[in-house]
Amino acid sequence: MKILFPIDYTQMLINANQPALGDLCAWIFHPGMLFNSLDKWWGDFGTREFPHEGIDFCLYQNQSDQTQKIGPETNIPVMGDGAVRAMFKDYLGQAIIVEHETDNIAKGKFLTVYAHTKPQEDVQPGVQVKKGDIIATIADTKHSKARILPHLHLSLAIPAADLSYEEFVWNIMRDPARITRLDPLNLVKADYQVPDKDSLNKWLVDSHPIRF
Ligand SMILES: [Zn+2]
Repeated sequence: MKILFPIDYTQMLINANQPALGDLCAWIFHPGMLFNSLDKWWGDFGTREFPHEGIDFCLYQNQSDQTQKIGPETNIPVMGDGAVRAMFKDYLGQAIIVEHETDNIAKGKFLTVYAHTKPQEDVQPGVQVKKGDIIATIADTKHSKARILPHLHLSLAIPAADLSYEEFVWNIMRDPARITRLDPLNLVKADYQVPDKDSLNKWLVDSHPIRF
């Protein structure tokens, strides 16, 4: 079945994570979690070397108006039917690239990329997946030197016709000759808020299990 946008990926995540995300009302995005941002939302809260290639799902507001973190056990469902094309180590875990067919965004191929994950054992390049399949959980970051909370990085992209998935690495997602990156917030349904950066930086420092 072809993947059609927009997709209610928030609801898919909630369904895949009951009861943990059952009270999710809205995502909370630090400005640095948004597409093409140059802000870091971790470490020294400085500047990224390259505009953010997607969005980061990490924080949400619950029904009691509290800010919550998603945990490293969070299940990651795949957005549509397709095939795993590449998996590679990223900075915090592994990235999984899934190729789909679409015709309402592009004619032909479309990629969804789930990064900073711990893939399920049977998820390998070449494997066919169905919409809603749990392909991974979010990687734990407690041993990472990056001082960053566990989160799902999501990229959506149109691959160039001659894109090769051999030896795929993160930098290929930064090459517009090979990948046309799209803003996931235009293609996935999500209620969200973007709070003041300084107050959220303080919250992130205070709530992190590792001292900054
Ligand atoms: Zn990210």
